[in-house]
Amino acid sequence: MVTKEQVQKIFDTAIEKHLPRYKFIKLYFNGRLKKVLGRAHLNVLNMSVEMSLSHMEKDTYEQVRDTVLHEIAHLVDFIRRGKSNHDSVWRAVAVEVGAAPRASKFLKNS
Ligand SMILES: [Zn+2]
Repeated sequence: MVTKEQVQKIFDTAIEKHLPRYKFIKLYFNGRLKKVLGRAHLNVLNMSVEMSLSHMEKDTYEQVRDTVLHEIAHLVDFIRRGKSNHDSVWRAVAVEVGAAPRASKFLKNS
């Protein structure tokens, strides 16, 4: 079980470290998000990250932290090149931000 406060702290720390000029990016918690652990909304006008509450309830701190960093890697990748997927460019960014460089470590995350 990981709390919203813990997840917010992981998120804020990663934004501060990797995207200090993008502190306006919001983090949302979604109780209806079941098929994915988290997702990043990659829209120039409205970048945000959504985290699944059921993932936070069921999984460990390390697993949830990896999901947050996975989504941060998508944001960094998107800001740098205007798109993001799970290719080798994104995998290098994932390593840079400290996320496991794969699409799904524990379940699915987009
Ligand atoms: Zn992904």
